[in-house]
Formats: sequence, C-alpha cells, structure tokens
Amino acid sequence: MQRTTRNWLPPYLDPAGFIPRITETRVLFQWPPFFFPEFLGKVIAFLQSDDARKMGFEFDYRRILPCTWKCSDESLFMVPLSLLAYFGANVFPKGLIGARFNEQSLGAAVHHGSINVDLGGSHVGYLPGERGGSFGYIWRPQQKEFTSDCGYLTSVFTPFASVYQDASQNILLFRPQGSKVLASIPNEFLQPNWSSHRVKLLVDIETFTAGQVEYRDDTTFTHTTVARSLFYVHPEFLQGLDPRDVEPFLQEKPTPIGRFLSPKYFNIFDTQAPLDQNGLPRERLMLYMKYIVAPKYSPVSLKAAIVNTNLEHNRLTDTLRSPEYTNYSFACFTGIFMDLFDHEVGNYYNLFQPLSITIKPAGKKSEVELTPEEIQFRFARLNPAEPRLNLLDMTGFKSVERLVERFTFKPGRFEEFSHHNEVASNGDEPQT
Ligand SMILES: [Zn+2]
Repeated sequence: MQRTTRNWLPPYLDPAGFIPRITETRVLFQWPPFFFPEFLGKVIAFLQSDDARKMGFEFDYRRILPCTWKCSDESLFMVPLSLLAYFGANVFPKGLIGARFNEQSLGAAVHHGSINVDLGGSHVGYLPGERGGSFGYIWRPQQKEFTSDCGYLTSVFTPFASVYQDASQNILLFRPQGSKVLASIPNEFLQPNWSSHRVKLLVDIETFTAGQVEYRDDTTFTHTTVARSLFYVHPEFLQGLDPRDVEPFLQEKPTPIGRFLSPKYFNIFDTQAPLDQNGLPRERLMLYMKYIVAPKYSPVSLKAAIVNTNLEHNRLTDTLRSPEYTNYSFACFTGIFMDLFDHEVGNYYNLFQPLSITIKPAGKKSEVELTPEEIQFRFARLNPAEPRLNLLDMTGFKSVERLVERFTFKPGRFEEFSHHNEVASNGDEPQT
C-alpha cells in the first residue's frame, strides 16, 4: 500500500485545493526594470494618452490624488519624492509595513481626490554584482551595516527558509551496488511528531518516492539509522533533472538533494499559524511558502516580494469593486520596487518592475487590467512627461543610465548575498 504524508497537512494546504497563480519571475524579469522616476514620467504620459482614454480614464491634474502603498523604509524615500516632483501634489499613503494595502485609508483618500493614482508594491534590496547581483540586503549608512530588505518579509519567510535549508542538506540520495536510487529521509520530514519545530516540512512521498525500502537481514544498505527512513526515489523525479545533475545521486556515497527539493516534492507549514473564519492563514504568504522558499529562477527574497505584491494588488482591486467607490476613478500601477544604495552619490534610489496596471473609471464597477507584456509594449513607445520639480537635483543623481545598468539580474542568474559583492567607491565604505 502506498502511504502518504498528506494526512498531516492543514486543510488549507490540501494538494487537491486550488490556489491562484502568481506572476512568474521569468515573465516579469524578461525586461530590465525602470528607473522609478522615469517610470512615473511614462505613467503621466500614459494617463494622458488615447490608450488610457479608451480605457475610460480622464486625466485632470486638479482632481488627482497621488497615492502610495508600500513599506515605510527610508530606502524607498525616492518613491513619494518622485510622486511629489511629477504631480506637484501631496502624496497620500495607503500602505502599512510589509507593503500591506491599508483598506481603511481608501475612504479618506477618495474624499481628498476623486481620481486616485496608486503606485504600490513590495520592495527588495539589490546589490549589484558581476554575476547577476544579490537580493534581500541593503547598505544602511546610518547603521553602517548591511541589513535585510524588506526586513518585514524576511522575518516572515526566514523560519521556513531555514527548515527548507535543513531538509535540502539532510535528505540524502545515493545508489548502493545492485540497487535503484534511494533517498534517506530524516523522520522529521515524514511525520510531524518527530520534530519539535513549529514549522514542519513534509516530503510528499506520493510524488517523490516509489515505495519504502524493506529491511533485509542480508543487505547492509537497508539497515538505516534510528532517525531515518529509506525510500526508492520516484523515477519521474530523476527524469525531471538534467543528466549532469543526476550524476552525483548515482554514486554509493550519499549526496544532499539540495535545491532539487522543489515545490512538487514537499509541503511546509507553521503549526501555530493564526487562521481566519475560512480556515485560511491570516498571513496569506503561508499559502505560497513552498514556492517562496524553493524558487527556481529567483532568490527567496525576490520571490517573496513578487508573491506579496500579487496578493496585495488583488486586495486593492477587490476593494475598488465595492459600491462605495463606484463614482471614483482609480489608476493603479503595481510592481516590485528594487532598492539600491549608490556609494558615489551617497543616496538610495529605486528601480521598478511593473506587474500590473489597473484602470477603474468613475461610474464603473469593474476595471481594465494590463499584463506585464502589455505594459512593456505600450510604455516603450511613450515619451516620459517632465517632472514639475527637479528631482535629480533634489536627490543628487545626475546620470540615469548608470543607475539602471547596474541591475544585471536575469531569471536564474543571481548570486547569494555576501558583503564582498558590493564594491564601494567612496563615502560610507562598507566595512566587511
Ligand atoms: Zn519593507
């Protein structure tokens, strides 16, 4: 009889249950990001274009309230400053720590301006590097150290990422003489009672294994140590890998599974996660945690930012459909903010990767939404509007090209964070 570990999962992780899809890193980052102020110039050009008019949007500076929903970190200061420079108006915050969209802010916002232009999303620190750069940290000149960025999201995913890291190093694959490839799995990843950690990672033995290896007196490799169980590895797991990657698993010496422990083969959950009345975790990132901690094409911190932005954008557009906002007009520009620190100028700046544009015209209940492809296509043809205040003077930056060129990440091409990645030229030199 094929056994299962799925009976230990909380109902919200039922493998048969549907969870909405999240924008793929490969889709989103096939184009380079925009320098945020330049994106904003294009936002204004777009909102004044025939394209926006056809979508039902009427541009009127006097009625526009520029708004943000984002974390309050100082590394994002260029975002409200750019909105001020381009719209020449006060910026209304609709965000909470963690780039949560604050529903309560909306009633007040429409009271202050009948056209809301929303710029929002998660942020993630980026350190340029020759092999794609690294994510999740930024130089903080006030503290004179690198710290996690976004700090809030890092605190959410770190307990899961460390359990995943532990599993990827301790699930061992090998092939004894005369046998198929076997997996030696610590029991804590098969049965929750074997681990005292509140975060449980369980190997999905239906997809990952093809049955348990029985104990045989005369066969040494079947005599496992106390805390481990032995399985035949499912042929589909091996077929799914590049032949070069399979090679180490065909040896007699046990090799950690490493990053090949991909989301199809495990589940991960917090046994103490608070749930809402629908039985869903209040922290919705929990639903996507295995995709966050084991992404194929991006570092964990970038994946967390993409998932969080998708979830919060969904909450924002869901709120706009409520009847109390029917008479107001919304243009929502959602994406991922990348925070960089420039040692030459001694200041932060932001790049922006757009994920969605949503237009809800006044008098309509529903909205029109553009995909990342459509945004790139339309924005490539737009000449950015000029800011009303000189933003570059205010921030000390001169050449914009240099700032964008430092971003070298491509899906699947990135480095792990190390203090040595960042080469400081002058000013607040990182001490490593
Ligand atoms: Zn943050």
